[in-house]
Parts: sequence; C-alpha cells; structure tokens
Amino acid sequence: MKHFDVIVIGGGHAGAEAAHASARMGANTALITMSRDGIGVMSCNPAIGGLGKGHLVREIDALDGVMGRVADKAGIQFRLLNRRKGPAVQGPRAQADRAIYRKEMLAETERQENLTIVEGEVTDFILDNGKVSGAVLADGEQIAAAAVVLTTGTFLRGVIHIGDVSRSGGRMGDKASVDLANRIDSFNLPLGRLKTGTPPRLDGRTIDWEKLESQPGDDEPVLFSFLSEATSAPQISCGITHTNEKTHQIIRDNLSRSAMYGGHIDGVGPRYCPSIEDKVVRFADKTSHQVFLEPEGADDHTIYPNGISTSLPEDVQLAYVRSMVGLENVEIIQPGYAIEYDYVDPRALDMALSVRTVPGLYLAGQINGTTGYEEAAAQGLVAGLNAALAAQGKEPVTFSRADSYIGVMIDDLTTRGVTEPYRMFTSRAEFRLSLRADNADQRLTPLAIALGCVSQERVAHFNAKMAKIDAAMAELTKTPYASKAIEAAGIKVSQDGTKRTGFQLLAFPDVTFEQIVLINPELETVEPEIRRQVERDALYANYIARQQRDIDLLQKDEAHVIPANFDYEAIDGLSNELTSKLSLTRPTNLAQAARIDGMTPSALTLLLSHLKRGS
Ligand code: FAD
Repeated sequence: MKHFDVIVIGGGHAGAEAAHASARMGANTALITMSRDGIGVMSCNPAIGGLGKGHLVREIDALDGVMGRVADKAGIQFRLLNRRKGPAVQGPRAQADRAIYRKEMLAETERQENLTIVEGEVTDFILDNGKVSGAVLADGEQIAAAAVVLTTGTFLRGVIHIGDVSRSGGRMGDKASVDLANRIDSFNLPLGRLKTGTPPRLDGRTIDWEKLESQPGDDEPVLFSFLSEATSAPQISCGITHTNEKTHQIIRDNLSRSAMYGGHIDGVGPRYCPSIEDKVVRFADKTSHQVFLEPEGADDHTIYPNGISTSLPEDVQLAYVRSMVGLENVEIIQPGYAIEYDYVDPRALDMALSVRTVPGLYLAGQINGTTGYEEAAAQGLVAGLNAALAAQGKEPVTFSRADSYIGVMIDDLTTRGVTEPYRMFTSRAEFRLSLRADNADQRLTPLAIALGCVSQERVAHFNAKMAKIDAAMAELTKTPYASKAIEAAGIKVSQDGTKRTGFQLLAFPDVTFEQIVLINPELETVEPEIRRQVERDALYANYIARQQRDIDLLQKDEAHVIPANFDYEAIDGLSNELTSKLSLTRPTNLAQAARIDGMTPSALTLLLSHLKRGS
C-alpha cells in the first residue's frame, strides 16, 4: 500500500489549493482526482474574482496559494469592480481563458514539490478505529494517509436536469460520485441538497457582434497576485446584449417545462445567482436584463452568456437566446443545465475544517454548501494547511473575522450553516475597512511565513516591499509640516494652523502622495506602487483605529476557548433551544457562540461563567 501524509480527494478549485498548501507545508501529499485533465476545470463561468471573491483570491495569494498566479496568467480581461468606490469594497476580477487556466494549474501542480497526482475515483475510505486513514479507489487500490481532505464539489449524488430530463452526473460530461456518497452516509453527518445552474454555451461565430455594445477591460489591469507584474494572455472585449419582452414571454410560456419550476428539483439554489426563469418570475416588472457575452478563451469561439443560467429544455433555450439582439442566428454548443447535489451542513466542522465526529477527515469547497471557485479555493487552502499540520502532529491554524475574509467565511459556515449556496460579499465582513484586497499580504503573509508555507521568492518579495513601506512611513510620520508649507503645496485641508505629518495629510481623501513630495523632497524616490499603498493605508487609518476597540473585544471573546467536549446540558438555565444549537454547532470560542442564531446576552454570561469554572 502507498503511504502519504495527506490525501486530497478531488482536483477542482478546493482540491488543487488544498493539495498545494499541504505540499508547501512539507507534507507528502497525494491529489487523487477522477482525471488529470480535470484539474482546475471551471465548471461554470470563465472568470475569477469579483466583489468579495477578489478579496478571497488576494488572501489565497498572500498565503502563497496558486489561484491568483494562475488567474493572472490566464486572464484575458481584467476589471477592478467598484473602481469609483473606496478601496475597501473594490474587487479585482478577471475573465479567464479556460484552457490556459487548466493548463497552468496542471503545470503548477506537476511542478510542486511533495505533490503526486493520482488519477482515479475514490469509492471508500480506509478506517482505523473510526479514524479516516486513507482512501480506496474504484479499482481496489488502497492509499494510506494520516489525514484526508475531501473536495468533491457538486459530484456527491449529483443529478443533472435539463427540462424534464434528469440523469446522474457530477457536472456535464462527468459521472457522479455515488459510492463515496453512500460511504459518507455511514458517518451520519447532517446532509442536505442544494442546486445550481449554468447557461447554454454559444457559438461566437454565429453571433452578430456588430450589433452589440462592447465592454473592454481596464486600461491598467489590476492583477491578483502580489508577485505578478503583467498580463501574458491576449486581452479581449466582451459583448453586451439584453433580454426583452419576447424573451420573457418565451420563458413564461414554458415555465412548467423548466426543471426548477416543473417540480423536478428539491435542492435550494443560489439567491444571488438566479436562473433566467427565476429572474423573469421574481422580477416580473422588469422588461429587460443585461447579458454579458464572455469569450471562454482568446482562441476559443465558445461564448459564455453571463446572466441566463437555466434548466429549460433545449428547444426553449434556443428560442429564448435567439430572441435577443445579435443572437438571432446563434447556435448553442452545449445546453444550459441545473445540477442538484449533496452537501454537508458545515456546522459539523470546526474552524480548521475538520469533521468533528470523524477524526482524520477534512472537507472543503462546494461540499460544504458554498458556491464559487474562490470560496472553494480559500477553504481548500485552510483544509490543506490543517491536514498537513495534523499529519505533522502540530496545532491547527485558524483564521478570524478580524484578520481575513477567509476567517469571515469559515466562521459564517461553521457557526450558522447555510440555507442556500453561500457566496462571499464584502457586506459579510464587519471589519472590511481593514480587510482590503490591497493589504491582504500585509495582513496574512507574515502568518504564512511563520507557518512555513511560503516560497523563498515570496518571502524576499514581501520583505523588500515592507522595507520600502516602512521607510516611506518613517519619513511620512517623522515631522509634522507647518500649515504654511501645507498650503504652499496646494493642499486644502482645514486651515486651523495645525501642524500635520504627511501620513495625517494623506488621510484626507483628496490629498495625494505627490503633493506631500512637494513639501518633503526626501520622498521623491518612493516608487509608485508604494505611494499608492501608503495612500490607501492612510485613508483608512483613522477608521481602523476606531474599529480597533471592536476587534479587541472580539479577540478577547475568541480567547475564551470552549473545549470540544463541553457539556452544554450541564448549564442550568440555558434554554433547550440554545442547548441543542450549541451542542450541534460546538463553537470553538465565546465569540463564535455569540454569533449563533438566537443567542442572548444572558445566555452568553451563563456560558462564560461555566467556562471560567471549568465545567
Ligand atoms: P469542483 O470544482 O466541482 O471539483 C470537484 C473535483 O472532485 C473534480 O475534480 C472531480 O473530478 C473530483 N471528484 C469528485 N468525486 C470524486 C471521487 N469520488 N474521486 C476522485 N475525484 C473526485 N459557481 C459560482 O460561483 N457561480 C455559479 O453560477 C456557478 N454555477 C455552477 C453551475 C454548475 C452546473 C456547476 C457544476 C457549478 C457551478 N458553480 C458556480 C460552482 C463552481 O463550479 C464550484 O463552486 C466550484 O467549482 C467548486 O469547487 P470544488 O473544488 O468544491 O468542486
């Protein structure tokens, strides 16, 4: 039998990131996946990042994950979303060339030290006294490991629906994982059903592009990785068309034939990524919806029509796409479909993403009720790090709501569970002024360096950048400038005669670094990238200082650790409802307990006093 420290099952976005993270930690890692060519496949839209999601990619990159670097190589259109709003809510997004993304992800995976790709379907686990200690493949091969990360996405008992036709499948063209789902049943984990959908893919050669509005990328692309310097794939524009009254009528006339509306699907779908059927029904007063026509690659004529995912029959899909301007003669390459699949209620997991009742098993990605490549990858990274740490006999690493969107997501999942596929938004992060995409490296790379999961290249790059920021900061905070000097530089701040340092002046939204250079020529040599970073840091400094009190309170509560086997039944005066919620969720600390639905201040005080007594 082959032996590894860590096995990762599934080579999607969660699996790839988990396997890389584990291998970077020095754990001998096997990535077992159905097909080598399927590593890094984008099941749905050919895009990475966006609002909230872009933050996750930056954080993955700050921890030396692969998604950002690969997306930069595959990016064929980069746009910084919310560019006109503050940096805290701006989200980098790239449309990716699907083929390049897969090729680069496979190349990175093959290059990674300590990482072996094994092709095969996992049908069972090896169990050793209830602990997961390996995987069994469909051909009978057994592979042993100290920890196993399961990242099977939409594959567990996946069922694909197109109109009234349903069949088993993990996604279009792939078989579902049924044997493994049956084995997971035996763990008695809380399972549910969710659904998601994808639009038909169109043949770009049959689209009348002349009739369409065009959307180019940004002139100056904002990349994901702190290590990337430039784009490498050719850059393209997207087309824009719209649904219209006729489109909506065709959809309304055929609603009963939609898998979702015809009663063929039980699973709950993503409210924030509705199908076109949902949009027509839920927003009945709207006569038109925008549809982005996104090329799936620079050399690929496949077009992803963003905004019209569907489970209507193929003939209806063709009729409604052809009702739109520019698409009158379009041909469909692959029909849209919906997929229903099993997920595990993530309240069964702890903050390290290990299953509390099944030692040795970690879960990451869509299997935990999330949707999206970025959410999956971020969880994969955390599960991979922790599986490696466990295999090495070390303490787990966890993330907090105060340090990262990763912490926000895992805390949301493990304390509240999901009622629909969970996706990241900036609004979910209460400390979003400090958790910006631009400072993800400052927040997380030191932690990653301490953990030992970072390449020498990144360590050198980060240290050099921080040395430049520190030098600029030292100069900017050294001497307050007299108000006359400030005025002479054309800086218009309240003329109260107050002396201000350069950093204090940069906290005013309209003040630029270049103006400070006019007062203090010592700053002339500061590079543009460092200037912009210091500007952003200064802009938020006052708000963040005020937020610090809340962060301190959170961290104080986080320090009250609740033992894994804590007996909630023993607390007199705790309602039955809260006792059962706490027993199900098993919060790791008092801060998490406070966020459980229905928690009251008095119940929290009761819990704290029991914790202090050590009961
Ligand atoms: P996946 O990327 O699905 O990867 C799972 C991996 O596990 C695959 O490599 C598979 O081969 C492997 N695997 C499965 N079972 C086994 C086994 N037994 N043994 C070995 N290997 C196995 N996201 C959005 O953000 N927006 C959307 O609109 C959206 N729509 C979607 C529509 C469809 C139809 C689908 C299928 C997905 C959609 N997604 C969407 C979700 C997105 O694709 C996923 O969130 C993301 O891919 C999840 O990553 P993952 O790593 O968890 O799983």
